[in-house]
Amino acid sequence: MSIILGKDDLAKYPFLEEAGTYVRESHFDLDDFNRSEFLHIIERASKRIEFALIQGKVFMDLEKYDIELFTFLVSLIMMKYIYEDSAIKKFSLFEAIRVERFLISDLLKEKDLRKKNLLISRIFRELFQLDVDLDTKKNNLFKMNISNYLDRATQFNEIEWKLINRAVDNGYVYLDVDETVRLIRYEIYKLMYNKIKNMNITKIPEQIRFHATLIKNKLIPTIKYTKNTTDLPPCIKKALEFLNKSENLPHSARFMLATYMLSLGKSIDEVVSLFQNAPDFNEKITRYQVEHLAGKKGSQTKYSVPACSKLVNENLCYATIDCKGITNPIQFGRNRK
Ligand code: SF4
Repeated sequence: MSIILGKDDLAKYPFLEEAGTYVRESHFDLDDFNRSEFLHIIERASKRIEFALIQGKVFMDLEKYDIELFTFLVSLIMMKYIYEDSAIKKFSLFEAIRVERFLISDLLKEKDLRKKNLLISRIFRELFQLDVDLDTKKNNLFKMNISNYLDRATQFNEIEWKLINRAVDNGYVYLDVDETVRLIRYEIYKLMYNKIKNMNITKIPEQIRFHATLIKNKLIPTIKYTKNTTDLPPCIKKALEFLNKSENLPHSARFMLATYMLSLGKSIDEVVSLFQNAPDFNEKITRYQVEHLAGKKGSQTKYSVPACSKLVNENLCYATIDCKGITNPIQFGRNRK
């Protein structure tokens, strides 16, 4: 007997082909979203977007599959209308994390091996061309060939992703479920981002436009660093550029930026606000970390700006002629003076 994905699966993975087919076959018209019966869906979509863009949280609520499929569709249309690239990136990242959490939970809890394999096949193999297998003889670990692993793992800076720290056997890298799913976060993110960017809608229903405008008005303005940026070392300028584009910064770059700004005498609030555009911004966590670096939490040690040699090793150095002779970013500008 062949096994197929259920409707509950489509609610969690609304980007799958079956979900699109369901929406198409339901013969509904976009103008239907102007009817009062659809207001609930539009409000859910608003909440899902606000969770990501304003509260920095992942919307994990799960309703009946048809409500989820339409909420997902409306969320994408709203993001298309909001149009701001940094907001689309941030929303896409939070959607990717939502999928990641559902997928980890399903792969851990699903007892039916055929169903588990079907999920792996549909998402990893068909969608992202990543050959992943569940090895039941090896503690139900997931395995993938080394080159597939390296293609994805090189995006992470943490030491545990280095091949030398992985279990490797017979040309395969072995990973637990969290690690396996984490490897495709960027691909899910790109899938969401491209779905919004490539959406072609000539007329967005009024009720959707109205709610999207409300969100747009609440969005944190894009952070622009007002200091004359020619005074900043290139490594710091680069990190700020990344943040202004809502790109994800590795932890080492966040550490560099925060310690540098604190060394200039910036307040905790000013430093925290620099990270507002980070796609995974969470004010509470960021504030705690910045306070920790400033020596106001934990061991009360004030952390120093990393030396240039360390930043070179972490691929964070973008040295120019003005960096000549300096060993730490805080010395930048000394030569010109
Ligand atoms: S040389 Fe030092 S200050 Fe200049 S970009 Fe590299 S790390 Fe930054």
